[in-house]
Parts: sequence; C-alpha cells; structure tokens
Amino acid sequence: MPEKMQAVVKTNPVPGAEWLSVGIPRIAPDQVLVKVKATSICGTDVHIYKWDPWSEGRIGKKNLPQILGHEVAGEVVEAGSQVKKVKVGDYISAETHIPCHRCIQCLTGQEHICANLSILGVDCNGAFAEYFAVPESVCWVNDEAISPEFATVQEPLGNATYAVLGEDYDVAGRNMAIIGDAPIALFAVGVARVCGVTSIFLVGKYDFNMDIGRRMGADHPLYANREDVNRVQYVMDHTYGYGADIVLDMAGSPQALDEGFKMLRKGGRFTAFGVASVSPTPIDYNNGIVFKGAQVHGINGRKMYDTWFRVRNLLASGRLDITPVITHLYPLEEYEKGFAVMMQRPRTSAKVVLFPDRGEYGKAKARRVKEKTSSARRG
Ligand SMILES: [Zn+2]
Ligand SMILES: [Zn+2]
Repeated sequence: MPEKMQAVVKTNPVPGAEWLSVGIPRIAPDQVLVKVKATSICGTDVHIYKWDPWSEGRIGKKNLPQILGHEVAGEVVEAGSQVKKVKVGDYISAETHIPCHRCIQCLTGQEHICANLSILGVDCNGAFAEYFAVPESVCWVNDEAISPEFATVQEPLGNATYAVLGEDYDVAGRNMAIIGDAPIALFAVGVARVCGVTSIFLVGKYDFNMDIGRRMGADHPLYANREDVNRVQYVMDHTYGYGADIVLDMAGSPQALDEGFKMLRKGGRFTAFGVASVSPTPIDYNNGIVFKGAQVHGINGRKMYDTWFRVRNLLASGRLDITPVITHLYPLEEYEKGFAVMMQRPRTSAKVVLFPDRGEYGKAKARRVKEKTSSARRG
C-alpha cells in the first residue's frame, strides 16, 4: 500500500483546483477505504471549482484544503474494525447524503433529508483522488455488470429516478413535462421512457443536450429560448387540452416555474428539483397549486435506499441505456479539461467521467468505441 496519492484539491478560495500529491486517507473504525475506479463531475463540483458565493458560504475558507468530488465507483481495499455491511474487494458506489441516524427523519424512513446531514465532497474530502474514505453506512454494493463510468453516475441518476417516480410511482401511461436539459433532466427522460411514461415533453435550451434528450426518448423537444412555439399551449394541444399529468422542474428559473405550473393539469404532480435562481421565488400560488389541487413534491437526494435498488435494476438489466448522457471521459489528472467542457456555453457536454487509473480509463474508452460501432451498425 503506497502512502501518497494524487488528488484534485481545492487549496485556496479562488477559482480552480490543484493536482497534488497528498497522504492516503486514514479510515475511522466505521469507514472503508476505496480505490477509485471512476468519479464524475457534478454541478456542485463546478460551483466549488469556480468558488462562487454558494461555495464560499457553504464550505468557507476555513475548511480548505479539500478534495473535490462525490460521485464515485470503486473497490473497497480496507475496512475499519466496526464495518459489517461491506468487505474488502466489494465494488461500491456511495450515497452522498450521510445521515445522523437519530433525528425524526432518520427514524421515519426519510434519511435523505436528515436534519444533520453531511454531504460527501462538500462537508468532507471527496473522491477526485486515487483513494477516498467513506462511512460504510452510505456504501452501496454495485452489480459487477454495471461498468464504472455508469456506476459512478448512479447518484445523479438516482435524483432523476426519484424525481420521475415520485412517492407513488404512478407514472405508467401518463405524460410528463421535464423542464431543463442538464444531465439529470436527460437521465429523467430515459427513466421516464423505461418506466412507461407515454408522452415526454422536454423543455431545454441547447441543441447539444436536446439531441441527447431525443436519443433518451423525449417525444416533444421544446426550446425554452425560442418564441416560435407557445410551450404551454403546445403541451395543452398534445394532452387533449388537460395539461401534463406530471411536471418535473429541473431548471429553477422564473420562466420554468411559471410555465411549469401552467402546463400542469388539475390534480397533477409538480416535482420541484431545480434550485431556484432567485429565492424567494414568485409563483402563481392560487392558480398553480390551490385551485388546481396540485401535489408539489420537493426532491433533495434519493430515497434511501429504495431509489438505489431501482437504479441498480434499471442499469444492470440493460433496460436503461444512459450511454448518450455520458459524453466525456478523461484521466483524472486532466480534470481541468473536464471542468472546462462542463462550463462551456452553449453546452457541449452532459456527464463528464474521470478515471484516476490509466488502465480503467483505457478500458472505458474501449467500451465506448465498441458501443459506437455497434450503434452505427444498428443504424
Ligand atoms: Zn452529484
Ligand atoms: Zn438524521
């Protein structure tokens, strides 16, 4: 076992991050040490990388230096003395919400919204490294059939799955409007399609992402930044005049919220996942919720661990193919390229996956080429 490892570290409260040699984390009795096979860049990592007001307030200067990253797939190489659930050799991913197991939410099956939540890669060192330490309580054992570049994105894919299925899972044969075209919205399109949503409206801005949305199964791509189509009217016209049974807001803009509540049919479900860009944010409370008899469902995280079981089944069965959403693969040391492509506007990327190990990177690249040739053959 080496003593040092390479990691992407936020050292100073300024934009960027450094590629440093640091000590391999020492694990606590309830933790495991994971050798990272793949790790992916989340919007949260981009906030921290840019060091915007959110990360300044959330992490603050005093918690630096910190290793970024929280979406991960890897192998357990060491287990603490109290660890029971996982063992050395297990191929795992991690739920990023670390609950306290004591508050009312934790005691009533809502650990994902624990009152004392700490978040992997935000409140402690993360996974943009060769190794990382994680409490066994949030380890999730993967199916070996799921490749690391897919296993690492189960955390955001879990957000999408929970958002699509909601609390009642009643989506089959329904129609759904998904507002936003960032990776989680694109995952949501795929999940909705596989779970039997029969008409999917995708409201987005960028051609690159809208094209992925079409490949994931969106029936009606609608541009948020074009005025040639009245989006609310379009949804009405394609739902027998009722509106969407379910609206997922994954954008959070005033326009998304305004149109989202208007598109929603009476008695429908409005799922709030997008973080509002202005807060408090005005909505038409009476017409959008009260008189509509709407159900509003906020999503923060994934249902632990119901969502994880479903995500594993969707991926391992091959029913859900997320290949189109995974747009870029890089060795971890080229993380700057990954962040650059994530921050590019108009968007030219969806999900970016990083590999600390050159061998894992090579294998993922080879799988990619194989998928491309076989999909080209399928036409
Ligand atoms: Zn994430
Ligand atoms: Zn708790």
